[in-house]
Amino acid sequence: MATIVFLHAHPDDEASGTSGTMTRLSREGHRVVVVYGTGGEHGTSPEDLPEGTTLADFRRGEAEASARVTGAERIEWLGYVDSGMHGWEQNSHEHSFHGADLDEAGGRLAELLDEEDADVLVTYDWHGGYGHPDHVKVHQVAYRAADLAAQRPRVLESTMNRDAMRAGYQEALAAGQGDESWDPDAPIDGGEPLGTPEAQISWRVDVTPDIESKRAALACHASQTSDVGMMLAMPDEIFRAWFGTEFYIEPGRPAGMVDGWPFADLES
Ligand SMILES: [Zn+2]
Repeated sequence: MATIVFLHAHPDDEASGTSGTMTRLSREGHRVVVVYGTGGEHGTSPEDLPEGTTLADFRRGEAEASARVTGAERIEWLGYVDSGMHGWEQNSHEHSFHGADLDEAGGRLAELLDEEDADVLVTYDWHGGYGHPDHVKVHQVAYRAADLAAQRPRVLESTMNRDAMRAGYQEALAAGQGDESWDPDAPIDGGEPLGTPEAQISWRVDVTPDIESKRAALACHASQTSDVGMMLAMPDEIFRAWFGTEFYIEPGRPAGMVDGWPFADLES
């Protein structure tokens, strides 16, 4: 059995980003641990939020439900407050993840890596997929933690395949769907790119055997009606096309994307 630690920015990111991989790892007998940088304090507040319950409390419950779906055995919180996109006022909150001291946040994660004797740490690409300051921070904190850990774990970076997204978008346009003004190659508001060109990706993981688990994990975060709601509203076929594959960059690997399972050589 190996231990794989996933660092995510907000509760729900694990579901949309890596829950197919997490489910398969659990199924294969590995220990999956999920760590969140923030409590998702600035997400959508559900109308039926019970009195006296904070949004972070509520979302903690959703994250626990998601862990039961993916088989993650432990979830932990680095204890920071989430930020918005570039320029949002909440980014200056004194405990914002985005503004956190790297040694402090990385140190908290390194302690957990040591305690778990983690074999692999999964984080995000250098721009967090789309430039969200909390997601960019996930990348930075993970690498600092890997450096600080007693045993440096192998590091994988979850990403999106920009070439595949462009192709899917063009297909949708050809079928008369979608908004023609979107340019997948244009930088996002902070100047970061969207996803990663396929040539820089190391692993393509087919998670369609666990696609129902991925949908169920997402459904655990139903309070987030704008983004998660949109994903859950997708017809099965579209959902499978967008979420049936998970992509990882592994620094140091030879160039060229491999269709496979990055964890095949871990002892089960
Ligand atoms: Zn997020």
